[in-house]
Amino acid sequence: MGGMGSALSLARQGFTNITVWEQALYLEEVGAGINVPPNLGRILSRWGVMDICKAEGVAIERANVLDCETDEIISSAAYSAHMVADYGYPFILETSPVGHVTSTSPNTQTVHRAALQKSLVRGALDTGHVKLMTDQIITEYDFDKTRLLVRNEDTDEDEWVQADLLICADGIKSRARAAIYKRLGIADSVEDTGQAAYRIMVRRNLAKDDPELLKLFSSKQSWRWIGEKRHVMGYPINAGELFNISTSQPDEHFGEKDSWTALGDKSAMVATFHDFPERVKKLLSLVPEHEVLEWRLRAHKPLPVWVDHNVALVGDACHPTLPHIAQGAAQAIEDAAALGIVLSRIKSRNQIHSALMVYQNIRKPRTDWAVSMAAHNSISLHQDKATREASLAMARLALANEGGAEDGSDKEDDQVCVDKLASKELRDKLFQYDIALETEQRFDKLFAEELMKQRD
Ligand SMILES: Cc1cc2nc3c(=O)[nH]c(=O)nc-3n(C[C@H](O)[C@H](O)[C@H](O)COP(=O)(O)OP(=O)(O)OC[C@H]3O[C@@H](n4cnc5c(N)ncnc54)[C@H](O)[C@@H]3O)c2cc1C
Repeated sequence: MGGMGSALSLARQGFTNITVWEQALYLEEVGAGINVPPNLGRILSRWGVMDICKAEGVAIERANVLDCETDEIISSAAYSAHMVADYGYPFILETSPVGHVTSTSPNTQTVHRAALQKSLVRGALDTGHVKLMTDQIITEYDFDKTRLLVRNEDTDEDEWVQADLLICADGIKSRARAAIYKRLGIADSVEDTGQAAYRIMVRRNLAKDDPELLKLFSSKQSWRWIGEKRHVMGYPINAGELFNISTSQPDEHFGEKDSWTALGDKSAMVATFHDFPERVKKLLSLVPEHEVLEWRLRAHKPLPVWVDHNVALVGDACHPTLPHIAQGAAQAIEDAAALGIVLSRIKSRNQIHSALMVYQNIRKPRTDWAVSMAAHNSISLHQDKATREASLAMARLALANEGGAEDGSDKEDDQVCVDKLASKELRDKLFQYDIALETEQRFDKLFAEELMKQRD
């Protein structure tokens, strides 16, 4: 995401001769539902690649948080009523590997990671200035000489490649991050959160005889059932043909670290949520045996330095974020947008490093904040029964006083918002943000300061 996003961002700023090296042989449709919130939609629209996401997304009109024991709604935010109105862009959730998707609404949607990937790849290649090299593993970085060692998996040959600038977007298991830590002489600080995640998808045809479940597939709403130390989040994707589910629970199987593809055990998953509402249990029981993914959720401390000479890191490589505020792709692509702008403002190659430092100075406070919000939401979502009951009591009161979600209004007072994403304050800060505007406004001052530092 961050790699193709950076390539597209640079190409749109007029740079040429951009090469992306990717270890995968094919850009397959790996992954499941992914969020395209308004702060990401704003960038994709400006880059002219929002249409694929829109066409392949599912409209999400309302985001609900529910109690895992009573199935009662604790908070409910009317996304369709305010996303476009407040932030100018819809909230899209991308869909699954199955591939056929139709547009459902001009307003708020959900989409697959593959659709987002496709929009970036197509957009980048269409510029005519980006070359994508697949099946190529970067095995070493040489920051001093701005070069990288690439292994061609097909021929088994290694080749050093030199460039004016390297952008490392090698994800959660980043080698570039390890290399930076080595240069800094400090260790990467990673903590097990004690939590693991399952990711599954349920096909509509398996639920076709169950009207209660079919309602969820057709609902255009997201559903987050929360309980002590556990939650289940689900939403329809592929125009309601699939229901995408991700969970969080105590890590009892010591799942694979930082993986998107490790398989988990279905019966263990079903047992973990044995006391959740009937409709949740029915959904979990419908997933095919070998389609349960499970991984350990680890909290990485933000990388202190993202730039070394003419090399910069983007995305999960420098700010891996827990999934609880669903901003992984958005933050990686905000990075990419900022990079394109800072680099477009310099006059010569010897200013690249200073421009990259401006990029780091603009981006790091925001991503540090996003990383900490995601960690806080993990605590907030998994509170004990007494805290949940207090929230429920307030929600019931709000419903009695105002008519609540049933009449289309929001139940999103911050005290009721056990899910931080249900708070409008957090959404404003995440979704109103315009990375292009911030970078344009702050560049001159920050760049001048960087040049001063270089002179000293
Ligand atoms: C397979 C996969 C499935 C995912 N599924 C989901 C999902 O369903 N929902 C969700 O919200 N998020 C998902 N994510 C995560 C989400 O895409 C990222 O958090 C987010 O997009 C940040 O983007 P990024 O560019 O930093 O990292 P990524 O999007 O993870 O991209 C990193 C890329 O670098 C490549 N790479 C890594 N090391 C090397 C190397 N040494 N040489 C060459 N290439 C290398 C990887 O193959 C990958 O394509 C998934 C990520 C992956 C890799």
